[in-house]
Amino acid sequence: MIIIKKVQSKLKPVVWILLFMAIGFNAFSQNNTYEIYALKFASLKFKFPVTFFAVGSTSKDSVQPCYIVYLLKGNNGKNILVDAGFTETPPIYNMEGFNYVRPDEMLKKINVDPASITDIILTHPHWDHIGGLDLFPNAMVWMQEQDFNYFVGTAWQNNIDSSGFNTKDVLKINKKKLDKKLQLVNGDSVEIMPGIRVFTGSKHTYESQYVLVDAGNDKVLIASDNSWLYYNLINLLPTPLTFDTNAYLQNLKRMRAMVKNVDLILPGHDPLVFSKFSKVIEDVVKIK
Ligand SMILES: [Zn+2]
Repeated sequence: MIIIKKVQSKLKPVVWILLFMAIGFNAFSQNNTYEIYALKFASLKFKFPVTFFAVGSTSKDSVQPCYIVYLLKGNNGKNILVDAGFTETPPIYNMEGFNYVRPDEMLKKINVDPASITDIILTHPHWDHIGGLDLFPNAMVWMQEQDFNYFVGTAWQNNIDSSGFNTKDVLKINKKKLDKKLQLVNGDSVEIMPGIRVFTGSKHTYESQYVLVDAGNDKVLIASDNSWLYYNLINLLPTPLTFDTNAYLQNLKRMRAMVKNVDLILPGHDPLVFSKFSKVIEDVVKIK
C-alpha cells in the first residue's frame, strides 16, 4: 500500500501537467471561426444609374440597391450581426419605396431567435444600418467611439449635414449605452472579439468601420458602405458618400489586399451578393 501511494503521489503532478497541456493545446488549436450569412431584408423598388454611386464612372449600367444584415455564427456560441438594418425611414424617405421584411423576421426564417443575438457590430450609424437596434435587446453593440461621439453630438449642430441620420436612432443608441450594452471601440485594426478585427479610415461617416472575419479556410471582409457596390472595389472608384474621397479610395485598395479575391469582400448595398453565393432560402445566402 505504501508503495502504491508513493507511486500515486509521484504520478499526480505528471497527470496534472499532461491535463493542463491538453487543455492549453486544445484552447490554442481551436480557432474562433464563423459561418457568415447575408440576409437581404429590403430593396429599393427602382433602379439607379451606377454613376450615382461611383465618382468618375462612365458606366451605362443601373443597379437596384438592396439592404443587408450579416449574421456571423461562431463556433464559440456567439450569434453576431454586422449592422441592424432599419424598422422605419427618416421623414425625407418613404417606406412605400421599399420591398421590406423586418430584419428580425428574416432571422426567424433561418431559425435564428432574435433574442439569441449576442452582439451587433455597427459599421456606421446611418439610419439603414442602426435603426433595427431595438429588435435585439440582449445584444452588446460595438461601435467606433469617434463615430458615436459625432453621431450623438456634432451631427446635430446647426451648420452640419445630418441627412443620413435619424434622430430616433440617437435615442436608441443612448438607451443601449444606459443599459450598459454599448462597447466603444477606439481606432483602426482592433480585434474586438476572437477572430473578428475592425478597421477604420474610409470616412463613409465620421469614423465608419469595416469588419474582417475568420471564416475558417478564408478571411471574409464585410465592407458595408465602405464599398457601396462591387463596382467600387473592382474599378477602384469611390462613392460620393464620404467625408474624404481619397481616404475612401485608399481603403478600397487596402481592403482588396486583405483577402484572397474581391468576391470575399461584401459591399453595403449590392444585389450581386445574392447571386455570387449559395442560396439558403429566398434572400439569404451563405458566404462560402
Ligand atoms: Zn447604407
